[in-house]
Amino acid sequence: MVVIIDGNKIAQEIRNEVGEHALSLKEKTGIVPGLAVILVGEDQASLVYVSRKAKACAEVGFLSREYKLPADTSEAKLLNIISELNADQAISGILVQLPLPQHISTNKIIAAIDPQKDVDGFHPYNVGGLVSGNPLFVPCTPRGIMELISRTGIELAGKEAVVVGRSNIVGKPMALLLLAQHATVTICHSRTKDLPAVTRRADVLIAAVGRAEMITANMVKDGAVVIDVGVNRLENGKLAGDVAFNEVAPKASFITPVPGGVGPMTIAMLMKNTLDAALNMASKRE
Ligand code: NDP
Repeated sequence: MVVIIDGNKIAQEIRNEVGEHALSLKEKTGIVPGLAVILVGEDQASLVYVSRKAKACAEVGFLSREYKLPADTSEAKLLNIISELNADQAISGILVQLPLPQHISTNKIIAAIDPQKDVDGFHPYNVGGLVSGNPLFVPCTPRGIMELISRTGIELAGKEAVVVGRSNIVGKPMALLLLAQHATVTICHSRTKDLPAVTRRADVLIAAVGRAEMITANMVKDGAVVIDVGVNRLENGKLAGDVAFNEVAPKASFITPVPGGVGPMTIAMLMKNTLDAALNMASKRE
């Protein structure tokens, strides 16, 4: 019988834990974790994400600061704001909402964020930390997936894990985290030959592609753990994952739904990373 992993419930548990921890930090040190979110332009999905982040900050008792900048904001102006936030003692975490407009170099902007405040975990310093097995901050979506897996009691050591997708935000960090937990990891992408033959080997299958319902039942091994990262808007306005849930669920042992699986975990882990950043700052002041 398949278990549907309830991401909303686990994310709520994490937000509760973070809120309690933040309260005790405030009582002991007077420090309130603060998150600055910068949005350039008016991408509709980004606007929704930014408002969800502010709402989550309010729920866990963090300070939240939003910078909504026009689409024609110069790279120099953005770098200037980041430099001020790097020096701002009230701000523990800085997040620049991606994608950025074409005229701004994403790499340059990410590299300008103080790695100690890089709560998205995208700075090369933090990427290096993840590769070498000693990460300061891990990107929120893969960190959330690891939390879903561990809180569900799924053992990873020695398992065959297959990650479909190799982005810097999801696929690559996901593969490194699974490797750190001793899974045998394969990463697939658009040039992978015979994708179904590879995905059928997976005890743990992570779909992070962005193509609605592309993982079908014939691509999944009986009893696999199936984690669906995809968020795809269908023509009828509904959301669909990368996994054809109705046909895959009966074959799986565990599966995440879309919505209500990985999605809520991403913001919960952003809160956790911001708390960690504040705790690091607090320990340096002692
Ligand atoms: P990207 O577009 O950056 O990466 C997609 C990856 O999928 C690429 O590596 C690409 O391969 C691979 N791919 C594309 N087509 C195929 C195919 N036919 N077969 C195998 N691999 C393929 O996406 P992201 O990693 O940023 O996001 C992936 C999905 O996850 C999206 O739906 C996104 O909306 C969602 N997402 C959800 C989050 C959440 O919080 N729930 C957070 C972040 C993302 P190649 O490299 O060769 O081009």
